Order: sequence, then C-alpha cells, then structure tokens
Amino acid sequence: MHPVLKKNYGAWSWHDRPRPGVLHHVAKSGDEIWTVRAGTQRQMDLFTIRLLMDIADEFAEGYVRFTIRSNIEFMVSEESKVQPLIDKLTEHGFPIGGTGNSVSMISHTQGWLHCDIPGTDASGAVKALMDELIEEYTKEEMPNRVRMTTSCCQINCGGQGDIAINIQHTKPPRIDHDQVANVCERPTVVARCPVAAIRPAMVNGKPSLEIDEKKCICCGACFPPCPPMQINDPEHSKFAIWVGGKNSNARSKPTFHKLVAAGIPNNPPRWPEVSAVVKQILNAYKEDAKDWERIGEWAERIGWSRFFEKTGLPFTKYHIDNWRGGRANLNASAHIRF
Ligand code: SF4
Ligand code: SF4
Repeated sequence: MHPVLKKNYGAWSWHDRPRPGVLHHVAKSGDEIWTVRAGTQRQMDLFTIRLLMDIADEFAEGYVRFTIRSNIEFMVSEESKVQPLIDKLTEHGFPIGGTGNSVSMISHTQGWLHCDIPGTDASGAVKALMDELIEEYTKEEMPNRVRMTTSCCQINCGGQGDIAINIQHTKPPRIDHDQVANVCERPTVVARCPVAAIRPAMVNGKPSLEIDEKKCICCGACFPPCPPMQINDPEHSKFAIWVGGKNSNARSKPTFHKLVAAGIPNNPPRWPEVSAVVKQILNAYKEDAKDWERIGEWAERIGWSRFFEKTGLPFTKYHIDNWRGGRANLNASAHIRF
C-alpha cells in the first residue's frame, strides 16, 4: 500500500476526479494522493507485467494495485507526477479511464486459461469488446456508470452486471460410453445434476450413464466430474446477453439482470455478433436514459417492451424472465430441495 494511503487509512476528508481516469483524494491531515487508472488486457504476459512495474518504479513511486475489474492503478503523492505517468502509459497503449460514468473494464471469469469447464474464453471476448468500446472507457459520457461482466459458463463464477454476457449450452451432453467407466465416478456425476436427469446404465455391456433429455437443462455441471459427457459444441453453445443487474443499493435496490438476447454465435477470436448487440444496448441507453439512471433503472422506467423497441433487439417469450416461478418449474430433482 502506498505510504500516504497507509498513513491516512480511514481518515479521508474529500475526493474529486480532475479528469476521466484520475482520482484525487485529500486526507484530514492535508495529505493528497492522485490515482491514475489504466486498462489492461487482464491475461498478461511476463513482459507486459515487467513493463507496468518499470513504469511504476520510474513514474509512480513504486506502487500499484489492481481493481476487481482488472484496471491497474498507480498512485502518486504530487500532482506534477500525474501527466508524465499518463503520457508514459499512453505511449505504451494503456488507455486511461474507467472512472465515473464510463464503461469500465469488464470483470470476467477465467476462461480457457485456468478453468476445466469453460464454453468460451471470457477474457478474449472482453478484449475484443473493450477494443471497440475504448472511447467509452476513456470518456465519462454515459448517464451513469456501466459495469459489465462476462462468464464462460452459466453455472459458476459469473456475476450480476448492467450488461452480463455468458455462454449457454443448448443441447444435452453427448456421452462417450467407452470412456465413462475408466474416467468417471458415476455416483458423483449422478449427484451433480441439479435436475436429476442422469442415471447409471449398462451400455454395450459396460457400466455407463444415460441422460433423460426431457429433464436436462443443458447446464454443463456434469462435464467437470465426467469429461466423457461432452457438452461444449462449436455450433450449439451460444452466447446470451442479460441486462439490468445491479449490486449496489445506490438510488434503487439491487436487482437481478434479465435475459434480452440469446442464440448469439460463439465466434472467436473477435465475437463480432456479441459486440454488435452490446453496442446496440449501450447506444440506446446513452441516448435515452436520464442522468444517473443505471441501465436496469432506465429499462424499468420506460418498460421492457420499449427497451426492445429502442435497442432494436427481437423479443421472444424466453426473454426478461424474472424467475418468479423458478421454484416450481426448475426444481425437478428428487434429491435437491431449496
Ligand atoms: S464461469 Fe464457469 S467456466 Fe468460466 S471460469 Fe467460472 S466456473 Fe469456469
Ligand atoms: S448436469 Fe446439467 S447438463 Fe448434465 S445432465 Fe444434468 S442438467 Fe443436463
């Protein structure tokens, strides 16, 4: 932690933002500190990390921290150090921004690099999208802050967001029956399914598993304990976009996001179809929302039917479900009750 932050911990008087990407905090003691926030590509190679650390040593008193959205922040205790630091970061292609009413970096799950079940590369989709939204990152021109998330499966570590992007499998797993007995602990796999769709079965004289496809909700939970239950599919695993999630209590209660677009192709390395839908939503929000309305508040005020009109997204019966009936219609399992 920067010494000025340590010394004045919990004793701050006021703060402001001299420009997008720069925070200025003044402590009760009179000490001041400037924080410069820059965007990174999150999954970083060693050379980029060393470059950022060299910049910190030379221009930022040797201190950095990362935000939850993978922004890097450099802190300096003199105002005169701010511009040289910004110039150096800009020279190396790190955009300055992500504060206030901007589209900040997208928080995302691990993707192909670390996890064993991803249906796509969340960090790759983030990089592709932020390349197109860089103007919205470096300026603060949205009605309120926009916080996006991406997740590479639909069941584990994704989060709520003003706009949330995740992957949905749309077909049940295909089972490689020759492998099941060697690789999978069948009771573990049976217990893993949230809707009790998996049963032990003998196939071609070997112990294996079978799926009741009418029950299967294509969640992908059976794949980690049993890789022969392959569910990821280049054609049938699709992107979905959800809108209006919010964690904070500011202005209105926290809300769940709602599904507004599904069946979008999983199209690496640039996912252009995903970027197009996100930009449609952001453009409509920027144009139509009142000052300080988050995306969900805007949609609630104008009504969800108008949301679809203004964004130009097609509306189907699967959209904007609030899961009020979920307890009855999703809970098909005999062994899980909640
Ligand atoms: S969202 Fe799913 S696939 Fe992605 S890192 Fe988390 S658990 Fe793994
Ligand atoms: S765990 Fe999910 S994907 Fe696997 S069978 Fe059950 S519902 Fe289908």
